[in-house]
Amino acid sequence: MKQIPSIERSIAQPHKLGELRQAQKDWRNDPDVLTRLTRRLSTTLSLETQLGIVADELGEIVPFDSLNYRHRIARQDFVFASGLGGQHKCEYRLNLEGVSYGTLTLYRRKKFSEEELEGIETILGVVICPMRNACHFLTIEQAALTDSLTGIPNKRALDDNLLRASQLSARHEESYSLILCDLDHFKTVNDNHGHVVGDHLLQQAAEGIERALRTSDSVYRFGGEEFAIVLPHTSDQDARDVADRIRKAIASICVDCGDGKLSVTASCGVATHLGNETPEQWLARADDALYHAKHAGRNRTQVFAAIG
Ligand code: GH3
Ligand code: MG
Ligand code: MG
Repeated sequence: MKQIPSIERSIAQPHKLGELRQAQKDWRNDPDVLTRLTRRLSTTLSLETQLGIVADELGEIVPFDSLNYRHRIARQDFVFASGLGGQHKCEYRLNLEGVSYGTLTLYRRKKFSEEELEGIETILGVVICPMRNACHFLTIEQAALTDSLTGIPNKRALDDNLLRASQLSARHEESYSLILCDLDHFKTVNDNHGHVVGDHLLQQAAEGIERALRTSDSVYRFGGEEFAIVLPHTSDQDARDVADRIRKAIASICVDCGDGKLSVTASCGVATHLGNETPEQWLARADDALYHAKHAGRNRTQVFAAIG
């Protein structure tokens, strides 16, 4: 017979329950700013929402014109700004147990008094722990969307962006293009030179693609030696030019592998979103174009619409 684990517990004392009820009442209604602040911060792990709460609560105690927060998280700059202006500033580097959790700066037209600075520091002493948790959460979230070898966004991030791009394309009747770029005969590179060289080439290819793009475009590691590039406001012909630029960038990579120089070519498939198609259908058309580029001899770009 299945044993149900028993939980040993002592009988709660009625007066303790009364105390608990009172404490909960106080906790809910307590106008004490630190209690309210910690309670509000504990409801979210979003760093942005937390900073909104901090700005809100801090502003009640020490009026300021603007608040700025900066932190580098998972190789990206996180910036939060609330309010405008102020020529006087007080700046705090938030540190906990020797780890930095960003810089928070308050600006105001009037100088901050010593007493006000003390108040700000008390508040910051309370917010640092929840903010550390939010920073860690953001780091983990970013890691889940980042390819560990190349440092660029991964397939999961692509899925999110393709869905967004499909919706925007349908709503605004704008051209969104997708390029699938696959390195040619990459298995031979690994077979002949080993995985370490292969990995290095993949990192170089990711960097080369990033350099060949505009800031509005985004690149993802789609699979092993395959990259996807999403191009907002780009027609299929313009996307073809970008794909050719990417191929050129990849072909120009030269890796010294001891017994000579190594380079690689790539093939690209391009598809421009059709207003009513799903991200999967869009991807499938780009993949089809890529298949034709491979079939036609590799080291070339194929646009889906041009397949006869
Ligand atoms: P094709 O021109 O048809 O694309 O040929 P290919 O050899 O590039 O394609 P195939 O699909 O046969 O092989 C892909 C190769 O990519 C095999 C695999 O070892 C390599 N690869 C995939 N992921 C990685 C990786 O993370 N690192 C390294 N070094 N190689 C990888
Ligand atoms: Mg390949
Ligand atoms: Mg492939």
